[in-house]
Amino acid sequence: MIIYPKRINKLNYKENLKNPKTFYGLDTNIKFCKKCTYSNQKPTSEKEYKHKRDTKKNTLLFDHEGICYACRILEKKEKIDWDLRKHQLKKLCDKFRSRNGNYDCLVPGSGGKDSFYAAYKLKYEFGMNPLTVTWSPHLYTDWGWKNFNSWIGAGFANYLLTPNGKTHRILTRLALEKLFHPFQPFMLGQQHFPPRAAIQLFKIPLVFYGDMNAEFGSPDDYNDPSRNSKFFSTKKKSDILIAGTSLEELVRKYEVSKQDLLPFMPLQNSELKNSVLHVHYLGYYLKWHPQECYYFAADKGGFQASPERTAGTYSKYNSIDDKLDDFHYYTTYIKFGIGRATYDSAQEIRNKEINREEGIALVKKFDGEFPERFSKEIFDYLSINKKKFPKAYKNFEQPIMDLKYFNLLSDKFRSPHIWKFCKNKWKLRKTVWN
Ligand SMILES: [Zn+2]
Repeated sequence: MIIYPKRINKLNYKENLKNPKTFYGLDTNIKFCKKCTYSNQKPTSEKEYKHKRDTKKNTLLFDHEGICYACRILEKKEKIDWDLRKHQLKKLCDKFRSRNGNYDCLVPGSGGKDSFYAAYKLKYEFGMNPLTVTWSPHLYTDWGWKNFNSWIGAGFANYLLTPNGKTHRILTRLALEKLFHPFQPFMLGQQHFPPRAAIQLFKIPLVFYGDMNAEFGSPDDYNDPSRNSKFFSTKKKSDILIAGTSLEELVRKYEVSKQDLLPFMPLQNSELKNSVLHVHYLGYYLKWHPQECYYFAADKGGFQASPERTAGTYSKYNSIDDKLDDFHYYTTYIKFGIGRATYDSAQEIRNKEINREEGIALVKKFDGEFPERFSKEIFDYLSINKKKFPKAYKNFEQPIMDLKYFNLLSDKFRSPHIWKFCKNKWKLRKTVWN
């Protein structure tokens, strides 16, 4: 039974506590990168399908000079021989280019600026025949849907996989309850479905993702163009958790079928072994610059920034197609003290769009803003009503989600080493600006 969230004990969040508790295995000593706005609380990519509430997080590494791994990677990027890399890409494309009328590479994406850039470059500059594949957002924004169609309109075939809407909803609610990570089911689909589709649906041996995880601070090998298969495959099916819940429990209690779970699932190692699959980052071969991707997509395909500022940040062109995205970054703010303005500013500082002082001012102004704009629709989406979910709803003490519920639940995920409660307000114990 998922019980209604109880009020937490505020004594754990007093202002001058000596050793406040720490959740998620985070570093008790909060530090900020000297070059950008990231803190050492930022989790790095991991196997999403193993994630439980008490999983110890891997976090962004800092070196002895107090600089984060993502910033160091960007320094390395300046020294790369990009002509050589381009030549390597050409050779790779020559090897895989189709001569038999099949598509020869798969480009996963939403039709946002990065996937637009990737597909366009591969097709029009490198002479490839890409099939684009999209894992549908939970709830498309109007502009996200328009951009998706502009992408297709720029000369690409697309395969849109929309998972069973009821399954996606129930998984999203469970991921919120158990992990405070409502975006997890979407991320699972985004990571697992394209490699699965490449092998099982399309028989296309080459998949291109865009920018490299390492650029956001994941300690992956920056000198390896391929995406580590641990992110989309697993040895044992019995280990898999989706929304922090075992497959058996999902089927038994929540009206979810095995068939509908399949697109969320990582491949089995055995399935991978018997096939030829190369999953590469285009960002290894081409110098990735997010703002340039935006201008490129706007120029070549009519990509449009969102007409309004994205909640929790100042930007208008980053990851704007899913209404639930606002809540994703709000939950990272609650769990790690890192909101969307931190993510956006850190990236723009590294790419020299803004300086650190400007970045810090933006974080101070926007980070952690409650995403009001789609909240009613999202609470409806997260509500497991009796009519639509005649069996699953019984597992929730309170099936209907509302703001009060959401706020009580948020508090359960605030780590006392990050948060203090004083004068009736939640405040970060440490911020990038003081
Ligand atoms: Zn940094």
